[in-house]
Amino acid sequence: MAKSLLELVNLKTYFHVSKHRIVKAVDGVSLSIYDDEIVALVGESGSGKSMTSMSIMGLVDPPGEVTGEIRLNGENLLKLKEKKLDKIRGDQMAMIFQEPMTSLNPVFTIGNQLIEAIRKHKKVTKKEAKKQAVELLRLVGFSRAEESLKEFPHQLSGGMRQRVMIAMAMSCNPKLLIADEPTTALDVTIQQQILDLMLKVKSEFQSSILLITHDLGVVAETANRVLVMYGGQIVEEAPAFDLFTNPLHPYTKGLLRSMPKMEDNKDRLEAISGTVPLAHNFPKGCRFAARCKFATDACADKMPELVQANDNRKVRCLLYEEGSTTADRNRITEGKGL
Ligand code: ADP
Ligand code: MG
Repeated sequence: MAKSLLELVNLKTYFHVSKHRIVKAVDGVSLSIYDDEIVALVGESGSGKSMTSMSIMGLVDPPGEVTGEIRLNGENLLKLKEKKLDKIRGDQMAMIFQEPMTSLNPVFTIGNQLIEAIRKHKKVTKKEAKKQAVELLRLVGFSRAEESLKEFPHQLSGGMRQRVMIAMAMSCNPKLLIADEPTTALDVTIQQQILDLMLKVKSEFQSSILLITHDLGVVAETANRVLVMYGGQIVEEAPAFDLFTNPLHPYTKGLLRSMPKMEDNKDRLEAISGTVPLAHNFPKGCRFAARCKFATDACADKMPELVQANDNRKVRCLLYEEGSTTADRNRITEGKGL
């Protein structure tokens, strides 16, 4: 088995908002990311994707509390002092967000911010940092990179700003890039360009990417492996091809049905009815049961485990646990075309 680059073990991110209210944003997530792969984390809004990434980056503030293990190259980041973590952030892992304007400083030029990002982690002269900044901008698609250094964030389009963010994130060649909805705020054509750039970044820097999105279309085009998140938990894990051709979890099936396909006309789209359960008040059984067409009384009663469905797939659904029958499973397979 390959050694993982990032390993989360029973990660929990709880917000103690008041004496009687604990928001369980992330509730026992275990996952591994290996070298040189793009792993997608998908799920509807509110399922805990961003809090998973913020926890990995060490960016959760009180009343948020993060427990479990976050191992990067074997080292548990939760045990590190802020200073050491600050070095690892940027050096070994970096993150880009949905809205680049929130992470770019409007009063400084692109060049200024890029050069500063480089010099924060590398011992290089200003001149050398500038040279590297120009190279990075070229790499992410600025044709007049030298001149662009002098521009301010507001002078650039959303797509170009996101490219700057990717350049900043990659400035120290981190092994892990976390991208939280990097294309959500962009036009469709620009989205595609940014996804292509992510693929280029992966091959150029041999980095692994954790790509967070609610858009399965984005996943189909880029990811090697997919993790589906629901109510703070992973409910399915599979190689991308397997997930799209044969989704196991009823929730994944629902997500796929609500995904627009080229050949479909829009009115055939089917959203999953109901909403994500509230993170301060999860039911005791399966968190998806209230919205699941296949739920039985047992589902409301017992929380399913994330079980190995076969060599490279996991699923959290009672229908796949030991003791359930092929007939049970066939019920969901038959439900595919519903
Ligand atoms: P996603 O990125 O999948 O849309 P998030 O990770 O942002 O979801 O949020 C997961 C849950 O955690 C949501 O119920 C959200 O309301 C809650 N949450 C996020 N941040 C905070 C916070 N600072 N305080 C309390 N609850 C929070
Ligand atoms: Mg989010």
